Amino acid sequence: MSNYKALIFDLDDTLLDFTLSEENSLNKLHAAFFSEFTLSHFKKTYHEINQNLWSLVPLQKIAPSELKIKRFDLLLSLLKLPHSSCRVAEHYEEALGKEVFWMPDAEEAILKFKQSHSIGIVTNGLTSVQEAKYKASGLENICKSFIISEKVGLSKPNKAIFDLALEELQVKPHEALMVGDSLESDFVGAINASLDFCWINPKKSALPSHLPQPRYEASSLKDLSNFMT
Ligand SMILES: [Mg+2]
Repeated sequence: MSNYKALIFDLDDTLLDFTLSEENSLNKLHAAFFSEFTLSHFKKTYHEINQNLWSLVPLQKIAPSELKIKRFDLLLSLLKLPHSSCRVAEHYEEALGKEVFWMPDAEEAILKFKQSHSIGIVTNGLTSVQEAKYKASGLENICKSFIISEKVGLSKPNKAIFDLALEELQVKPHEALMVGDSLESDFVGAINASLDFCWINPKKSALPSHLPQPRYEASSLKDLSNFMT
């Protein structure tokens, strides 16, 4: 594993704890715009709409730039609220960019990886949010390449988005390892781009039968660092 020259990471729920960031940001959004509904009803409704829309992104049926407004258009019309979806979206993205938490031991692990590898990130996300988190976390001082789907107009698992990272990192596919928690975007993307893959699988989920065995599987980035020595 130390033969790789570069490591390419997914950002959300691989390096940074998106689940916690989303939770805190939705709490803020609820207080500002949706307080006439219970928090649990608001969150459940939001998650249903949001997950449904994000599942269309890898299929190229919607772009993240449309999704960020559309999810609130749908939510506001379902809850019959008069707010501007653009204003709600802006408020939410601002909150997400401020709620930045590392996954357990991820910061220590990536600082260790940086000593021997070029580090890149490929993320399916919103430019304003991901750039804010990149700065606030200090990842901007660690990474050589940072590719955001909304910014480049390409999304994982499209091979082309990984090719951009390889170009910026100046490595060939066999010289890089993709590391991520998502099978649909990170693993399928790694397969499309001929990259070895390490699946970050803290919940020890079973691999669906239609996918081949990934090259590595780890419960955390600290666990992955054990393969490096
Ligand atoms: Mg992820």
